[in-house]
Parts: sequence; C-alpha cells; structure tokens
Amino acid sequence: MTGAMRFLILQADAAEGAASFFDSPWWKFTTMMAKALLVAMWLALAFWTYKDAKRRITDPLMIGVAVATSLIFPYVGTLFYVILRPPEYLEDVLERDLEIRAREQELVGGANRCPACRTAVRDEYLVCPKCRRELKVACAACARPLDRSWKVCPYCATDVASPKRSAKPVVAEEDELFA
Ligand SMILES: [Zn+2]
Ligand SMILES: [Zn+2]
Repeated sequence: MTGAMRFLILQADAAEGAASFFDSPWWKFTTMMAKALLVAMWLALAFWTYKDAKRRITDPLMIGVAVATSLIFPYVGTLFYVILRPPEYLEDVLERDLEIRAREQELVGGANRCPACRTAVRDEYLVCPKCRRELKVACAACARPLDRSWKVCPYCATDVASPKRSAKPVVAEEDELFA
C-alpha cells in the first residue's frame, strides 16, 4: 500500500463518518429542535412586538404594521420596530399630561387663594371665609370689591378712601363741601 492510497482510504473513511454523523437520529433531533426553537423565538418576538406596540401606539393600523413587520422579517423586523417605536409608553404620556395640567391649575388657582391660610377664594371675596383675613376693600361708592393696592375704583372712578393714608384728604374734601 502506497502512502497515496492510504491517504485516499482515510479520506473516504472520514467522509463516510461525516455522512453517517449527519444521518444519525441524534443530529436529526438536534436540528429539528433548533428549528423549532428558531420558530418559537420568531413567534415570541412577534407577540412581544404586539404587546409592546399596544402600550406605545394608539393607532390599531400602526400596531398591525409593527406586528406584520416582525412576522414577515423574522428577528430583523422586530429590531426595526425597536429602533422606530415611539420612545414613551402611552400611560407615561398620559400621566405627564395630567401632572402638567394639575400644576397649571395650581398656578392659576394660586392667585385666588387666601395668602394666610391658602383657602381657595373668589375674586369678589372681601374677607377669607375661613380665617377672616381681609382680602379686598369694598368701594365706598359702589361697594364693589377692590384690590387693596388700588388707588381708585375702576368701576365708578371714586378715589379709594384708604382709612390709613387718605383719612386727611377725605376730611379736607368734607371741609370743602361744608365750607
Ligand atoms: Zn384665610
Ligand atoms: Zn366704586
């Protein structure tokens, strides 16, 4: 037997061994399991896409497109979906909107609260109904509620008679009337 012949025989043995390995039931079982796993993975990814899309997208058509993409293009489709999906969950968006609205309401309402006890009060209240703090002054002429910083009633143009500061001018006016 020459060296070349021995080499050929060894090669033939190796090929036969490989062929019988790929024909073996063990190999068949392994490949079948691997295929089943890949299919299961593909379906699981499509299902995950559906669940995730439902939490992020309101349009049912877009949810359908996302699921179809991950079904038609196994694995890659799901990857595309992950790249292109909306960054936030719908519930987070909703929660943030509610928070912003609540804060806005607080800001708007803040102007109409008693500075002493924070009770919500209306524009026309003269005193806080809860702690009796004076909020506005009634106009001496038309009795409308006036801000305490105002110098003249914007409704009837009467000078605001602040008892502390304008006591004298009022007296002077009265004096002039009597004179
Ligand atoms: Zn109060
Ligand atoms: Zn007035």
